[in-house]
Amino acid sequence: MKQLVFATHNAHKLEEVAKMLDDMIQVVSLTDLRCTEEIPEKGFNLQSNALQKAQFVDERFKCDCFGDDTGLEVEALNGEPGVFSARYAGEPANSEANIEKLLKNLKGITNRNAQFRTVIALIYRQRIHYFEGVIKGRIIEERQGDHGFGYDSIFMPNGYDQTFAELPAEVKNTISHRGQAIRKLVTFLNTQN
Ligand code: IMP
Repeated sequence: MKQLVFATHNAHKLEEVAKMLDDMIQVVSLTDLRCTEEIPEKGFNLQSNALQKAQFVDERFKCDCFGDDTGLEVEALNGEPGVFSARYAGEPANSEANIEKLLKNLKGITNRNAQFRTVIALIYRQRIHYFEGVIKGRIIEERQGDHGFGYDSIFMPNGYDQTFAELPAEVKNTISHRGQAIRKLVTFLNTQN
């Protein structure tokens, strides 16, 4: 079985990703490796942040690993919060405060179009590979639903009348930004012997 280290301390994300990976891939987090250091995220785009996270693991553990970075890109805000999604309302990162700020900035704006975009940087056998996933939807006026994390409760994917925080996890994983990127990663790994 292939083992990959996922450069995250986020238990929600690890659980989502572990469910999506084939039986042939065992995914472990930095927390599982008892690494409690904060993972750097200082890039100016999703790609460089994802790579920074993967390189952080590579430097310490010298193993196959990947990092991901996600941005919520809101059309009426010229793509904000984008790469700054985690700390939109400032430090320390706080999802509730981020949602409050976003809803405030969109007050009275009728164009609610938005998309989640994930970039994964995989370091596999010392080479770097990128995978991307995008899901389009809209930002609703008030929170709905209580599962998921981050901006899930205000994001309604196109074609659905429930938010990511209301949809069953299997549905979210099938259509989501991260789900798409992870499936591309799995397809790639399946082509490697
Ligand atoms: P990160 O790049 O995964 O750290 O995510 C950046 C920001 O987007 C954080 O505020 C996350 O909570 C949020 N985020 C990432 N993925 C999702 C998701 O699937 N749903 C809702 N929010 C997310």
